[in-house]
Amino acid sequence: MTTSYRAEGLPYPEDAPASQALFDRAQAIVPGGVNSPVRAFRAVGGTPRFMAHGSGAWLTDADGRRYVDLVCSWGPLIHGHAHPEVIAAIQAAAARGTSFGTPTAGEVDLAEEIVRRTAVDEVRLVNSGTEATMSAIRLARGFTGRSKIVKFAGCYHGHVDALLAAAGSGVATLGLPDSPGVTGAAASETLVLPYNDVSAVEAVFRENGGEIAAIITEAAAGNMGVVAPREGFNQRLAEIAHAHGALLIVDEVMTGFRVSAGGWAGLDPVEADLFTFGKVMGGGLPAAAFGGRRDVMSRLAPAGPVYQAGTLSGNPLACAAGLASLRLADDAVYKRLDELSATIGALASDELTKAGVPHRLSFAGNMFSIFFTEVDVVDYDSAKTQDADAFKAFFHEMLSRGVYLPPSAFESWFVSTAIDDAALEQIATALPYAARAAAR
Ligand SMILES: *Cc1c(COP(=O)(O)O)cnc(C)c1O
Repeated sequence: MTTSYRAEGLPYPEDAPASQALFDRAQAIVPGGVNSPVRAFRAVGGTPRFMAHGSGAWLTDADGRRYVDLVCSWGPLIHGHAHPEVIAAIQAAAARGTSFGTPTAGEVDLAEEIVRRTAVDEVRLVNSGTEATMSAIRLARGFTGRSKIVKFAGCYHGHVDALLAAAGSGVATLGLPDSPGVTGAAASETLVLPYNDVSAVEAVFRENGGEIAAIITEAAAGNMGVVAPREGFNQRLAEIAHAHGALLIVDEVMTGFRVSAGGWAGLDPVEADLFTFGKVMGGGLPAAAFGGRRDVMSRLAPAGPVYQAGTLSGNPLACAAGLASLRLADDAVYKRLDELSATIGALASDELTKAGVPHRLSFAGNMFSIFFTEVDVVDYDSAKTQDADAFKAFFHEMLSRGVYLPPSAFESWFVSTAIDDAALEQIATALPYAARAAAR
């Protein structure tokens, strides 16, 4: 079992029979066997691991194998799995009833906590990051009376139709849909620009300034691997947008309450009109939000005419989990997350250097990723210069040695404060093998 492999220093076997059996059942009835595509391991191959439980820094899969978790449910779990205070808050909320379809005190508590930590005046709670960005865009269009949206290639804002137009780089291109089912009309309202390129933004506003409702950008890009905005980039976007009567939407769904108490804007303040949040603010349950300037937010129904609603929005369990999570997230927590990500990033980079594997270690606060490339990564084009095979080999070696990395080279690694010495040691032990595997 688990411990004997570890004691003998042997990797887990390549096959994972219990996960495979579950995956076979799932594939028969769920498209691709998963409910969100990247879970399927398509980018790295092999059997996706079905997790049975999580505790602190550790995940246990259906075959009983343990992994140090460096995905943390794609970011939300800054305190690790099943933190006792978060679980107690969920249990207490569940015992009071799971949903009322009426306002509740928990929503007000969570909204106040968000307003206290960020620059938003008002906030609306929703269920997913996708809903947050979709609603923010509708609101920006409703507020400005304009239709076009500027986004950046490689930035992901959920599976909103208009925002799945990510193709095109270099000069401003009229967006083409990335996915069948997204109409040309939806995509054509989206102007896609290279990330970190202020002059491209200036140029597109010179041409289309009067038609653009908003720029949407990830606060710091984390969905093409981690690519921080150049110094002053986000604030420059605010200035350009405002000079043309457009809004800036800063998407903090990934960075919000993870990289600092106030998210990326807590590290790199920006005069955005709207912000979106998700992931950490739900404490592992589905909760997200969008908020911003009072005059913009007050256009939202029922205060104003822009419609937005949700049967389960502000769900009591999700609010309780989110609030408990945020209340635990004090300065010491953010300091620890910063230290852990710096330590793990440096360990990985050192081993790759020793093995002669070209790479770039890239941080945005405590989010980080390793690009398997010799090129400095500043945008989606440079991110795509990665050696996908090197990542694949690296990923599988780490997995077989009990470290769960994001199963794609275009994702951030996420740490939790639950990572202790035993977890660090497991990571440090696995890395030299993975680095050598990536070198082949
Ligand atoms: C995860 C993510 C989203 C989408 O959130 P979901 O809850 O998956 O819909 C949107 N924007 C960013 C920056 C994200 O990282």
